[in-house]
Amino acid sequence: TYEYNKSHALFERAAQVIPGGIYGHLGVAGGRRYIPASAYPLFAERAEGAYFWDVDGNRFLDYMAAYGPNVLGYNDREVNEAAIKQAAIADCTTLPSSLIVDLAELMVDTVASADWAFFAKNGGDVTTLAVMSARAATGRKKIIFLEGYYHGVAPWAHTDTGPGILEEEVSNNILIPWDDLDALEAVIREHKEDIAGLIATPYYHTVFDSNQLPAKDYWQKVRKLCTDNGIVLIFDDIRCGFRLDMAGSDHYFGIKADLICFCKAIANGWNLSALCGTDALKSAVQSVFYTGSYWMSAVPFAAAIATINKLKRINGVQLMNDIGTRLTSGLSEVAKSHGFNMEASGAPSLFYLHITDDKSMMLQQDWAAECVKRGVFFSHYHNMFTNCAIGDEEIKLSLEVADEAFKAVKVKHPQFI
Ligand code: PMP
Repeated sequence: TYEYNKSHALFERAAQVIPGGIYGHLGVAGGRRYIPASAYPLFAERAEGAYFWDVDGNRFLDYMAAYGPNVLGYNDREVNEAAIKQAAIADCTTLPSSLIVDLAELMVDTVASADWAFFAKNGGDVTTLAVMSARAATGRKKIIFLEGYYHGVAPWAHTDTGPGILEEEVSNNILIPWDDLDALEAVIREHKEDIAGLIATPYYHTVFDSNQLPAKDYWQKVRKLCTDNGIVLIFDDIRCGFRLDMAGSDHYFGIKADLICFCKAIANGWNLSALCGTDALKSAVQSVFYTGSYWMSAVPFAAAIATINKLKRINGVQLMNDIGTRLTSGLSEVAKSHGFNMEASGAPSLFYLHITDDKSMMLQQDWAAECVKRGVFFSHYHNMFTNCAIGDEEIKLSLEVADEAFKAVKVKHPQFI
Protein backbone atom coordinates (compact mmCIF):
# COMPACT_ATOMS: atom_id res chain seq x y z
CA THR A 1 0.00 0.00 0.00
CA TYR A 2 0.97 3.62 -0.57
CA GLU A 3 3.28 5.80 1.50
CA TYR A 4 3.13 9.55 1.74
CA ASN A 5 6.55 10.71 2.89
CA LYS A 6 6.74 13.74 0.59
CA SER A 7 3.15 14.73 1.39
CA HIS A 8 3.90 14.68 5.11
CA ALA A 9 7.16 16.61 4.72
CA LEU A 10 5.30 19.25 2.69
CA PHE A 11 2.60 19.45 5.33
CA GLU A 12 5.25 20.22 7.97
CA ARG A 13 6.42 23.13 5.82
CA ALA A 14 2.85 24.23 5.08
CA ALA A 15 1.91 24.31 8.75
CA GLN A 16 4.66 26.90 9.35
CA VAL A 17 3.43 29.37 6.75
CA ILE A 18 -0.26 28.60 6.08
CA PRO A 19 -2.87 28.71 8.87
CA GLY A 20 -3.82 25.08 9.46
CA GLY A 21 -1.40 23.87 6.79
CA ILE A 22 -4.26 22.77 4.52
CA TYR A 23 -7.70 24.31 4.80
CA GLY A 24 -11.14 23.13 3.79
CA HIS A 25 -12.27 19.52 3.95
CA LEU A 26 -8.80 18.06 4.14
CA GLY A 27 -7.65 20.60 6.72
CA VAL A 28 -7.67 20.22 10.47
CA ALA A 29 -10.60 22.64 10.83
CA GLY A 30 -12.54 20.85 8.08
CA GLY A 31 -12.76 17.10 7.94
CA ARG A 32 -9.27 15.76 8.46
CA ARG A 33 -9.78 15.21 12.14
CA TYR A 34 -12.56 12.76 11.26
CA ILE A 35 -10.73 10.65 8.75
CA PRO A 36 -7.86 8.26 9.19
CA ALA A 37 -5.46 10.96 8.10
CA SER A 38 -2.52 8.62 7.63
CA ALA A 39 -4.36 6.87 4.77
CA TYR A 40 -4.68 10.02 2.69
CA PRO A 41 -2.18 11.89 0.51
CA LEU A 42 -2.02 15.63 1.18
CA PHE A 43 -0.63 17.26 -1.98
CA ALA A 44 -1.26 16.50 -5.64
CA GLU A 45 1.20 16.92 -8.48
CA ARG A 46 -0.63 16.18 -11.73
CA ALA A 47 -3.94 14.89 -13.02
CA GLU A 48 -5.28 13.29 -16.17
CA GLY A 49 -8.71 11.89 -16.99
CA ALA A 50 -10.12 10.04 -13.98
CA TYR A 51 -6.80 10.05 -12.08
CA PHE A 52 -4.49 12.31 -10.10
CA TRP A 53 -0.97 11.63 -8.85
CA ASP A 54 0.26 12.84 -5.47
CA VAL A 55 3.70 14.34 -4.75
CA ASP A 56 5.02 10.86 -3.82
CA GLY A 57 4.11 9.62 -7.31
CA ASN A 58 1.14 7.49 -6.16
CA ARG A 59 -1.73 7.29 -8.63
CA PHE A 60 -5.36 7.66 -7.48
CA LEU A 61 -8.56 6.90 -9.32
CA ASP A 62 -10.39 9.96 -8.02
CA TYR A 63 -14.04 9.77 -7.00
CA MET A 64 -13.89 13.20 -5.33
CA ALA A 65 -13.44 14.99 -8.68
CA ALA A 66 -11.93 18.00 -6.88
CA TYR A 67 -15.25 18.11 -4.95
CA GLY A 68 -17.15 18.38 -8.23
CA PRO A 69 -15.33 20.41 -10.91
CA ASN A 70 -13.84 17.38 -12.69
CA VAL A 71 -16.76 16.55 -14.90
CA LEU A 72 -15.23 15.63 -18.31
CA GLY A 73 -11.97 14.24 -16.92
CA TYR A 74 -8.95 16.14 -15.66
CA ASN A 75 -7.06 18.05 -18.36
CA ASP A 76 -9.75 17.49 -20.96
CA ARG A 77 -8.00 18.31 -24.22
CA GLU A 78 -10.91 20.07 -25.90
CA VAL A 79 -11.55 22.35 -22.91
CA ASN A 80 -7.88 23.07 -22.32
CA GLU A 81 -7.29 23.89 -25.98
CA ALA A 82 -10.12 26.45 -25.88
CA ALA A 83 -8.72 27.94 -22.67
CA ILE A 84 -5.11 28.05 -23.88
CA LYS A 85 -6.14 29.59 -27.20
CA GLN A 86 -7.92 32.38 -25.31
CA ALA A 87 -5.02 32.79 -22.85
CA ALA A 88 -2.72 33.54 -25.80
CA ILE A 89 -5.00 36.44 -26.77
CA ALA A 90 -6.12 37.93 -23.42
CA ASP A 91 -7.46 36.91 -20.02
CA CYS A 92 -7.85 39.56 -17.29
CA THR A 93 -8.13 43.00 -18.92
CA THR A 94 -9.90 46.29 -18.17
CA LEU A 95 -12.96 45.34 -20.21
CA PRO A 96 -14.76 42.00 -20.46
CA SER A 97 -14.27 39.97 -23.64
CA SER A 98 -17.16 39.15 -25.97
CA LEU A 99 -16.99 35.60 -24.58
CA ILE A 100 -18.97 36.72 -21.53
CA VAL A 101 -21.91 37.44 -23.82
CA ASP A 102 -21.46 34.15 -25.69
CA LEU A 103 -21.46 32.22 -22.43
CA ALA A 104 -24.46 34.10 -21.02
CA GLU A 105 -26.39 33.25 -24.20
CA LEU A 106 -25.31 29.62 -23.92
CA MET A 107 -26.45 29.44 -20.27
CA VAL A 108 -29.82 30.97 -21.22
CA ASP A 109 -30.19 28.39 -24.02
CA THR A 110 -29.12 25.53 -21.74
CA VAL A 111 -30.78 26.21 -18.37
CA ALA A 112 -34.58 26.09 -18.51
CA SER A 113 -35.24 28.70 -15.81
CA ALA A 114 -32.51 31.11 -16.99
CA ASP A 115 -33.43 34.38 -18.69
CA TRP A 116 -30.01 35.82 -17.86
CA ALA A 117 -26.65 34.84 -16.32
CA PHE A 118 -24.20 36.65 -14.01
CA PHE A 119 -20.67 35.25 -13.59
CA ALA A 120 -18.27 35.14 -10.65
CA LYS A 121 -15.60 32.71 -9.43
CA ASN A 122 -16.67 30.56 -6.49
CA GLY A 123 -19.96 29.01 -5.53
CA GLY A 124 -20.18 31.24 -2.48
CA ASP A 125 -19.95 34.35 -4.67
CA VAL A 126 -23.20 33.48 -6.39
CA THR A 127 -25.12 32.10 -3.38
CA THR A 128 -24.27 35.44 -1.71
CA LEU A 129 -25.54 37.39 -4.72
CA ALA A 130 -28.70 35.26 -4.77
CA VAL A 131 -29.49 36.03 -1.13
CA MET A 132 -28.67 39.74 -1.52
CA SER A 133 -30.88 39.88 -4.62
CA ALA A 134 -33.77 38.12 -2.84
CA ARG A 135 -33.56 40.76 -0.11
CA ALA A 136 -33.25 43.58 -2.65
CA ALA A 137 -36.25 42.28 -4.59
CA THR A 138 -38.56 41.83 -1.61
CA GLY A 139 -37.37 44.42 0.90
CA ARG A 140 -37.53 41.59 3.47
CA LYS A 141 -34.84 40.14 5.73
CA LYS A 142 -35.41 36.49 6.56
CA ILE A 143 -33.97 33.53 4.66
CA ILE A 144 -35.15 29.93 5.08
CA PHE A 145 -32.49 27.19 5.09
CA LEU A 146 -33.07 23.43 5.00
CA GLU A 147 -31.21 21.08 7.34
CA GLY A 148 -28.10 19.52 5.80
CA TYR A 149 -27.46 22.70 3.79
CA TYR A 150 -24.12 23.99 2.61
CA HIS A 151 -24.10 27.25 0.70
CA GLY A 152 -20.51 28.39 1.27
CA VAL A 153 -18.51 29.98 4.04
CA ALA A 154 -19.72 33.61 4.12
CA PRO A 155 -21.10 34.73 7.50
CA TRP A 156 -24.68 34.89 6.16
CA ALA A 157 -24.41 31.23 5.01
CA HIS A 158 -24.63 29.83 8.55
CA THR A 159 -27.57 29.36 10.84
CA ASP A 160 -25.49 29.60 13.99
CA THR A 161 -22.69 31.77 15.30
CA GLY A 162 -19.11 30.49 15.26
CA PRO A 163 -15.59 31.89 15.13
CA GLY A 164 -15.82 35.20 13.23
CA ILE A 165 -19.60 34.98 12.73
CA LEU A 166 -21.78 37.50 14.55
CA GLU A 167 -25.24 36.91 15.94
CA GLU A 168 -26.44 39.82 13.76
CA GLU A 169 -25.23 38.05 10.62
CA VAL A 170 -27.28 34.91 11.22
CA SER A 171 -30.25 36.24 13.21
CA ASN A 172 -32.49 36.39 10.13
CA ASN A 173 -31.77 32.82 9.07
CA ILE A 174 -34.41 30.20 9.83
CA LEU A 175 -33.51 26.49 9.73
CA ILE A 176 -36.21 23.90 9.04
CA PRO A 177 -35.95 20.14 8.47
CA TRP A 178 -35.37 18.85 4.93
CA ASP A 179 -38.46 17.58 3.11
CA ASP A 180 -40.92 18.84 5.77
CA LEU A 181 -43.76 20.85 4.27
CA ASP A 182 -45.57 21.27 7.61
CA ALA A 183 -42.50 22.97 9.06
CA LEU A 184 -42.26 25.23 6.01
CA GLU A 185 -45.94 26.20 6.25
CA ALA A 186 -45.56 26.92 9.97
CA VAL A 187 -42.56 29.19 9.39
CA ILE A 188 -44.37 31.04 6.62
CA ARG A 189 -47.41 31.55 8.88
CA GLU A 190 -45.23 32.86 11.68
CA HIS A 191 -43.11 35.26 9.58
CA LYS A 192 -45.50 35.93 6.75
CA GLU A 193 -44.31 39.33 5.57
CA ASP A 194 -40.65 38.96 6.55
CA ILE A 195 -39.34 36.09 4.40
CA ALA A 196 -37.20 37.20 1.46
CA GLY A 197 -36.05 33.83 0.19
CA LEU A 198 -35.70 30.09 0.60
CA ILE A 199 -32.29 28.69 -0.37
CA ALA A 200 -31.91 24.95 -0.91
CA THR A 201 -29.87 22.31 -2.64
CA PRO A 202 -31.91 20.17 -5.08
CA TYR A 203 -31.82 17.27 -2.65
CA TYR A 204 -30.39 16.38 0.74
CA HIS A 205 -26.71 15.81 -0.06
CA THR A 206 -25.18 16.44 3.32
CA VAL A 207 -22.04 14.93 4.87
CA PHE A 208 -21.88 12.04 7.39
CA ASP A 209 -25.41 10.93 6.48
CA SER A 210 -27.17 9.01 3.73
CA ASN A 211 -28.35 11.40 1.02
CA GLN A 212 -32.07 11.71 0.21
CA LEU A 213 -33.90 12.61 -2.96
CA PRO A 214 -37.03 14.74 -2.47
CA ALA A 215 -40.42 13.12 -1.98
CA LYS A 216 -42.67 13.17 -5.03
CA ASP A 217 -44.19 16.64 -5.56
CA TYR A 218 -42.10 18.14 -2.75
CA TRP A 219 -40.59 20.81 -4.98
CA GLN A 220 -43.94 21.52 -6.66
CA LYS A 221 -45.44 22.21 -3.24
CA VAL A 222 -42.48 24.33 -2.12
CA ARG A 223 -42.64 26.25 -5.40
CA LYS A 224 -46.33 27.02 -4.81
CA LEU A 225 -45.81 28.12 -1.21
CA CYS A 226 -42.99 30.44 -2.32
CA THR A 227 -45.04 31.90 -5.18
CA ASP A 228 -48.13 32.41 -3.01
CA ASN A 229 -46.12 34.18 -0.32
CA GLY A 230 -43.76 36.30 -2.40
CA ILE A 231 -40.70 34.26 -1.36
CA VAL A 232 -37.78 34.04 -3.80
CA LEU A 233 -36.92 30.35 -4.39
CA ILE A 234 -33.15 29.95 -4.74
CA PHE A 235 -31.77 26.63 -6.02
CA ASP A 236 -28.17 26.05 -5.00
CA ASP A 237 -27.18 23.78 -7.90
CA ILE A 238 -23.48 24.20 -7.24
CA ARG A 239 -22.91 20.51 -6.53
CA CYS A 240 -25.71 18.84 -8.56
CA GLY A 241 -25.64 21.25 -11.50
CA PHE A 242 -25.00 19.54 -14.88
CA ARG A 243 -24.84 16.15 -13.11
CA LEU A 244 -28.63 15.62 -12.99
CA ASP A 245 -29.82 17.66 -15.97
CA MET A 246 -28.16 20.15 -18.34
CA ALA A 247 -31.33 22.25 -18.06
CA GLY A 248 -30.80 22.61 -14.29
CA SER A 249 -31.82 20.50 -11.30
CA ASP A 250 -35.00 22.55 -10.85
CA HIS A 251 -35.97 21.37 -14.36
CA TYR A 252 -35.03 17.81 -13.36
CA PHE A 253 -37.51 17.95 -10.49
CA GLY A 254 -40.16 19.62 -12.66
CA ILE A 255 -40.17 23.21 -11.35
CA LYS A 256 -38.66 26.60 -12.13
CA ALA A 257 -36.58 28.24 -9.43
CA ASP A 258 -36.40 32.05 -9.37
CA LEU A 259 -32.62 32.03 -8.99
CA ILE A 260 -30.21 29.14 -9.63
CA CYS A 261 -26.53 28.93 -8.69
CA PHE A 262 -23.94 26.99 -10.74
CA CYS A 263 -20.26 26.46 -10.18
CA LYS A 264 -18.51 23.12 -9.98
CA ALA A 265 -19.32 21.44 -13.30
CA ILE A 266 -19.48 24.60 -15.38
CA ALA A 267 -15.89 24.84 -16.72
CA ASN A 268 -14.24 21.49 -15.90
CA GLY A 269 -12.08 23.03 -13.19
CA TRP A 270 -11.35 26.44 -14.71
CA ASN A 271 -12.55 28.92 -12.11
CA LEU A 272 -16.05 30.13 -12.76
CA SER A 273 -19.49 30.28 -11.18
CA ALA A 274 -22.82 31.60 -12.42
CA LEU A 275 -26.08 32.89 -11.05
CA CYS A 276 -28.99 32.48 -13.44
CA GLY A 277 -32.58 33.53 -12.96
CA THR A 278 -35.89 34.69 -14.30
CA ASP A 279 -36.68 38.09 -15.78
CA ALA A 280 -38.65 39.02 -12.65
CA LEU A 281 -35.40 39.06 -10.63
CA LYS A 282 -33.18 40.74 -13.22
CA SER A 283 -33.56 44.30 -11.98
CA ALA A 284 -33.00 43.26 -8.36
CA VAL A 285 -29.71 41.58 -9.34
CA GLN A 286 -28.73 44.66 -11.32
CA SER A 287 -29.45 46.88 -8.28
CA VAL A 288 -26.85 45.07 -6.11
CA PHE A 289 -23.30 46.41 -6.54
CA TYR A 290 -21.40 43.20 -7.02
CA THR A 291 -18.14 42.41 -8.81
CA GLY A 292 -14.60 41.06 -8.33
CA SER A 293 -11.09 41.47 -9.73
CA TYR A 294 -11.09 38.28 -11.80
CA TRP A 295 -14.79 37.76 -12.45
CA MET A 296 -14.66 38.89 -16.08
CA SER A 297 -11.47 37.02 -17.02
CA ALA A 298 -11.89 35.55 -20.47
CA VAL A 299 -10.10 32.20 -20.15
CA PRO A 300 -12.65 30.50 -17.88
CA PHE A 301 -15.45 31.68 -20.19
CA ALA A 302 -13.74 29.93 -23.11
CA ALA A 303 -13.35 26.81 -20.94
CA ALA A 304 -17.00 26.92 -19.86
CA ILE A 305 -18.29 27.22 -23.43
CA ALA A 306 -16.18 24.21 -24.44
CA THR A 307 -17.25 22.24 -21.34
CA ILE A 308 -20.98 22.84 -21.77
CA ASN A 309 -20.89 22.09 -25.49
CA LYS A 310 -18.97 18.86 -24.92
CA LEU A 311 -21.23 17.76 -22.04
CA LYS A 312 -24.22 18.20 -24.34
CA ARG A 313 -22.56 16.49 -27.30
CA ILE A 314 -21.54 13.36 -25.40
CA ASN A 315 -24.63 13.38 -23.15
CA GLY A 316 -22.42 13.67 -20.10
CA VAL A 317 -25.31 13.60 -17.62
CA GLN A 318 -26.48 10.18 -18.83
CA LEU A 319 -22.92 8.91 -18.98
CA MET A 320 -22.06 10.01 -15.44
CA ASN A 321 -25.26 8.52 -14.06
CA ASP A 322 -24.74 5.21 -15.88
CA ILE A 323 -21.18 5.02 -14.54
CA GLY A 324 -22.45 5.74 -11.03
CA THR A 325 -25.12 3.05 -11.27
CA ARG A 326 -22.62 0.43 -12.49
CA LEU A 327 -20.09 1.39 -9.85
CA THR A 328 -22.44 1.45 -6.87
CA SER A 329 -24.27 -1.75 -7.79
CA GLY A 330 -20.90 -3.44 -8.26
CA LEU A 331 -19.70 -2.17 -4.88
CA SER A 332 -22.86 -3.47 -3.16
CA GLU A 333 -22.25 -6.90 -4.67
CA VAL A 334 -18.62 -6.94 -3.57
CA ALA A 335 -19.72 -5.89 -0.07
CA LYS A 336 -22.34 -8.64 0.02
CA SER A 337 -19.75 -11.26 -0.99
CA HIS A 338 -17.92 -10.37 2.22
CA GLY A 339 -21.05 -10.31 4.38
CA PHE A 340 -21.43 -6.51 4.51
CA ASN A 341 -24.26 -4.24 3.36
CA MET A 342 -23.23 -1.23 1.34
CA GLU A 343 -25.96 1.24 0.45
CA ALA A 344 -25.61 3.97 -2.17
CA SER A 345 -27.83 7.04 -1.92
CA GLY A 346 -28.38 10.29 -3.82
CA ALA A 347 -28.08 10.48 -7.60
CA PRO A 348 -25.69 7.92 -9.16
CA SER A 349 -23.55 10.73 -10.61
CA LEU A 350 -22.98 12.05 -7.07
CA PHE A 351 -23.40 8.98 -4.94
CA TYR A 352 -22.99 8.65 -1.17
CA LEU A 353 -21.77 5.31 0.21
CA HIS A 354 -22.80 3.93 3.57
CA ILE A 355 -21.92 0.56 5.10
CA THR A 356 -25.09 0.05 7.09
CA ASP A 357 -23.73 -2.66 9.40
CA ASP A 358 -21.98 -0.11 11.62
CA LYS A 359 -23.67 3.05 12.92
CA SER A 360 -20.42 4.39 14.37
CA MET A 361 -19.02 4.72 10.84
CA MET A 362 -15.70 3.19 11.92
CA LEU A 363 -16.11 0.37 9.43
CA GLN A 364 -16.87 2.73 6.58
CA GLN A 365 -13.98 4.94 7.58
CA ASP A 366 -11.55 2.04 7.58
CA TRP A 367 -12.90 0.64 4.32
CA ALA A 368 -12.47 4.01 2.55
CA ALA A 369 -8.96 4.30 4.02
CA GLU A 370 -8.01 0.81 2.74
CA CYS A 371 -9.25 1.80 -0.74
CA VAL A 372 -7.31 5.08 -0.72
CA LYS A 373 -4.08 3.34 0.32
CA ARG A 374 -4.57 1.07 -2.73
CA GLY A 375 -5.17 3.92 -5.16
CA VAL A 376 -8.95 4.46 -5.26
CA PHE A 377 -9.86 7.76 -3.67
CA PHE A 378 -13.19 7.29 -1.87
CA SER A 379 -14.60 9.39 0.93
CA HIS A 380 -16.36 7.88 3.91
CA TYR A 381 -18.28 11.02 4.89
CA HIS A 382 -18.95 13.11 1.76
CA ASN A 383 -20.87 12.37 -1.43
CA MET A 384 -18.58 11.43 -4.29
CA PHE A 385 -18.72 12.26 -7.99
CA THR A 386 -18.38 10.33 -11.21
CA ASN A 387 -16.95 11.97 -14.32
CA CYS A 388 -17.08 11.23 -18.04
CA ALA A 389 -13.51 9.85 -18.16
CA ILE A 390 -14.35 6.80 -16.03
CA GLY A 391 -14.55 3.70 -18.23
CA ASP A 392 -14.73 -0.08 -17.90
CA GLU A 393 -11.12 -0.31 -16.78
CA GLU A 394 -11.74 2.15 -13.94
CA ILE A 395 -14.89 0.37 -12.74
CA LYS A 396 -12.99 -2.94 -12.77
CA LEU A 397 -10.12 -1.42 -10.80
CA SER A 398 -12.57 0.09 -8.29
CA LEU A 399 -14.26 -3.24 -7.64
CA GLU A 400 -10.94 -5.10 -7.30
CA VAL A 401 -9.65 -2.55 -4.82
CA ALA A 402 -12.99 -2.56 -2.95
CA ASP A 403 -12.65 -6.33 -2.64
CA GLU A 404 -9.13 -6.07 -1.19
CA ALA A 405 -10.32 -3.36 1.20
CA PHE A 406 -13.20 -5.49 2.47
CA LYS A 407 -10.76 -8.34 3.11
CA ALA A 408 -8.63 -5.96 5.17
CA VAL A 409 -11.52 -4.55 7.23
CA LYS A 410 -12.91 -8.03 7.88
CA VAL A 411 -9.73 -8.85 9.76
CA LYS A 412 -9.96 -5.62 11.73
CA HIS A 413 -13.73 -5.68 12.44
CA PRO A 414 -14.82 -9.35 12.67
CA GLN A 415 -17.75 -8.31 14.92
CA PHE A 416 -19.70 -6.87 11.95
CA ILE A 417 -19.92 -10.01 9.83
N1 PMP B 1 -23.15 25.23 -2.25
C1 PMP B 1 -22.93 23.92 -2.43
C2 PMP B 1 -24.10 22.98 -2.54
C3 PMP B 1 -21.62 23.43 -2.47
O1 PMP B 1 -21.40 22.11 -2.63
C4 PMP B 1 -20.55 24.35 -2.37
C5 PMP B 1 -19.12 23.89 -2.43
N2 PMP B 1 -18.87 22.65 -1.88
C6 PMP B 1 -20.84 25.71 -2.21
C7 PMP B 1 -22.15 26.11 -2.16
C8 PMP B 1 -19.75 26.73 -2.08
O2 PMP B 1 -19.01 26.83 -3.23
P1 PMP B 1 -17.51 27.40 -3.17
O3 PMP B 1 -16.74 26.51 -2.26
O4 PMP B 1 -17.04 27.34 -4.58
O5 PMP B 1 -17.62 28.81 -2.67
